Formats: sequence, structure tokens, C-alpha cells
Amino acid sequence: DELVSQIAAGEVVERPASVVRELVDNALDAGADQITVRLVAGGIRAIVVEDDGCGIPPEELPLALKRHATSKIGSLAELEGVTTMGFRGEALAAIASVSETAIVSRPVDAPQARRLDARSGELQPAARGQGTSIEVRELFFSTPARRKFLKSEATELSHAVEAVRRHALARPDVGFAIWHEGKLVEQWRRATHEQRMADVLGADFVDQSRPVDFQAGPMRILGRAGLPEAARNRSDHQYVYVNGRYVRDKLIQHALRSAYEDVLHGQRQPAYVLFIDIEPTRVDVNVHPTKIEVRFRESGEVYSTVRRAVERTLALPAG
Ligand code: ADP
Ligand code: MG
Repeated sequence: DELVSQIAAGEVVERPASVVRELVDNALDAGADQITVRLVAGGIRAIVVEDDGCGIPPEELPLALKRHATSKIGSLAELEGVTTMGFRGEALAAIASVSETAIVSRPVDAPQARRLDARSGELQPAARGQGTSIEVRELFFSTPARRKFLKSEATELSHAVEAVRRHALARPDVGFAIWHEGKLVEQWRRATHEQRMADVLGADFVDQSRPVDFQAGPMRILGRAGLPEAARNRSDHQYVYVNGRYVRDKLIQHALRSAYEDVLHGQRQPAYVLFIDIEPTRVDVNVHPTKIEVRFRESGEVYSTVRRAVERTLALPAG
């Protein structure tokens, strides 16, 4: 089972940023209002994600680390309409198989917290307020071949920060803080969507973009589409979410490229933040272990709706 978990880890855990993404997903699913990420050596030596969510009862702590054990869905029907970030129950097991992992958690009405060490299985009393901290140390310590693929600490740190940024854009109702070796790297306080975009991407992106608000059939598209000025400054600002989940989808990227073709003559990459909401049964998020790819039931309709939403936004007279 250790081997199976390590193989799964190869699909889920590529670098510290993948661990950060999975742990923040879990904190959000736990209903956290505040999430703090602490990193050492770009996350290679340590990643700690703390939340003030619902916590894990002590008797369920060992289950959290078991492969395919998820508390989030109980039936195939629920999988069809999944609304949580996680549902596969493999992230923690995979992470624990390639690191030194510990969980410290205290549910709402528990008199104290418990700490579970993944390797030894030891369960001990611990001190913390309501919520959960997951500690992941020495990533890939037992798989030197994988560890060799990691880049410099600075590069791993910037990927980890980007992973939190993706979550932060989608969840302005949650506060985020990122610390690296005792220094505050980023802090995003709870805010409106508009304010969070300015905090995360800079006020200039908001100034140089137009609001998208488009509804067609089972789809609603919100966000901001950057004007050509925004592309010049910020070609890396390309964020697409499907039902709150950050995705990299070829179909959507293509629709966006063609919507932008007329406005951005030449090579420039458009900048945008788009939140696509669609009835959960019309999209399959269980396509890829990291859930970064999705499959739409009516892909043609999705393509044309995204394209129309952005074209219409960009065609509006300035003002
Ligand atoms: P999944 O998120 O797909 O269910 P994970 O391996 O990421 O699988 O997590 C396993 C289980 O551990 C979750 O289903 C949840 O019950 C519990 N869990 C993990 N992280 C947290 C957290 N931060 N707060 C509360 N419960 C958590
Ligand atoms: Mg998860």
C-alpha cells in the first residue's frame, strides 16, 4: 500500500506547490475563514498549513491519512454533483508517503487538540485553537530521484505563492497569509471580489480591465477581462475557474484566444480572471488526479458562451 501511495504521489505531488494546493483545498473544504501557510526553504524543508475550520475528531485522524478515505462524498450520485474541492481522498495519503507528515487538529467542541504523526501512528495531546494544522516536512526525503527534480528554493517558493494566489482570487471571503522562514510574504485580508483582485493582481489590472458578467442557459460567467494595456504589463495573469476550481482547460483557452484575437493584434497574451459557474452535473471534475482539467458535457456550448462573454465585454465602448 505504501508503494501504491507513492505511485499516486507521483501524480498528485510534483513539488511543494502541489502540496500547498491540496492542503489549502482541504482547509477551504473545512470551512476556514483564515488560512496561514508557512514555508521553509521554499517548502522543501517544511510546509505548514493552518486553518480555523471544522477540525478532525481524534478517532478520524488515522482515516484522514488513508488512501481513498474521504469524508466528503458517500455515493456515486454525490460524485456527479460534487461541490467540495476534494473528493478523491488521496492527497493526504500521497503526501504522507513522500514526506514526514503530521496532523494537529481540534474540532469545535473538543477540549483539546490531538497530534497524529503519520509515520509512527502516534497520537498525542497538543495545543492549538479550533481548526487543523497539517505539517509536511522533508518532501521527497526518501525518494532522492524525485527530490533532484526540484528547482531552487526561490523558484519553489514562487510556485507555492502562485498556488495560494489561485485560491485567494476565488475566495475573497477567506483571509490568507504566507510566511517564508519567519517573514510575511503575502497577506490578503477578507475582502470583496473586486478588492481581492486588486490586492492579488495589483490595482493596475483592475484599472486596465472590464468587468465580465454574462449569463447564458446553465452558465454564468463573472470576472474581469483585461484590455490590451493589461496584457502588456501582466501577460501572466490568466486565471480561469470552473465552479470555484482553478483549471487549465484547452477549450476555454482557445475560446479566449479567439475572443481576444481582434483586440490584441499581434503576439500579446491576454490577461483575465474568469469565474465560470455551471450546473455541477454538466461538468466532470474527476478527469485528472490534480483536478486541473475538467470535461464539459456540452463543450460546444461552453466554448461559444465563453467566447461571447469576453467578446461582448471587450466590444463595449470605453467608459
Ligand atoms: P479529500 O480532500 O479528497 O477528501 P484528502 O486526502 O485531501 O482527501 O483528505 C482526506 C480527509 O481528511 C478529508 O476527506 C477530510 O475528512 C480530512 N481533512 C483533511 N484536511 C482537513 C482539514 N484541514 N480540516 C478538516 N478535515 C480535513
Ligand atoms: Mg483534499
